[in-house]
Amino acid sequence: MKRLPWWKRPYGARRILDIGAGHNPYQGATHLLEIDVTEGRERGLQQVHVPDEAHLTVGDVNWLPFRDRSFEFIYASHILEHVEDPVQACREIVRVGAAGYIETPSPFLEQGLALRDTQSPDHWIHRWFVFTIEGDRLVFEPKTAGEVRRFCSCRAGEFMREWYDSLDFQEAQHCFPGRVKRTVLYWKGPWRPEVRSEMFDCRTSGRECRFVGMMRAVVRSCNDVFRAKRLVRLRRRFPDSVGVFRKYGHRSLFVH
Ligand SMILES: [Zn+2]
Repeated sequence: MKRLPWWKRPYGARRILDIGAGHNPYQGATHLLEIDVTEGRERGLQQVHVPDEAHLTVGDVNWLPFRDRSFEFIYASHILEHVEDPVQACREIVRVGAAGYIETPSPFLEQGLALRDTQSPDHWIHRWFVFTIEGDRLVFEPKTAGEVRRFCSCRAGEFMREWYDSLDFQEAQHCFPGRVKRTVLYWKGPWRPEVRSEMFDCRTSGRECRFVGMMRAVVRSCNDVFRAKRLVRLRRRFPDSVGVFRKYGHRSLFVH
């Protein structure tokens, strides 16, 4: 069962909906919503698990079969990167819930894995790079074969391009903590996502690009003493990545 950190849990909430709970629902969910209770392609063919105290509803996040404000808390993990229309899905989530938690893979993980994956761009099941800006704005940028290869012309974009080039991300990702591989948003009250038609270059559009947060996360992770062993291995295994850190003037405990 999935949990939230104890200081973030919705204590006192009596109705909690988990959207797309699958085989591993949120602990404490009173209601589960599942689009497909039979196939399970996107959860490794595992059976939907419904705890005794929870109700299962079959439905779609785009048209939630619930009244306005039916839930005090909505847990939506690894759902929004799949949807065709994030504005509609988020509108529904905000309509039926008073507050909630959203989690998706981070662009750091999505782009890193997709860059070398030339076999299956047509089969990528995630449609979006999802990230937050200023902590509370959720931004969607399309994850298409073309967009995966685009980088912002700013310093952060150039850094990320060279950093990905300097290593085998499939292997290197295991040196990084889970928190940089997830985008997380806790929300309360009404909000709207920002859905972009493409990656906007921050130097010409004036809008913050995803690479600023990605670069910050990479550099910060390389100071993580709890991952020291893995980071030292990363440095040894991919010495070129150290050169990229130096070139951009980043210093960290384990990679510089
Ligand atoms: Zn930029």
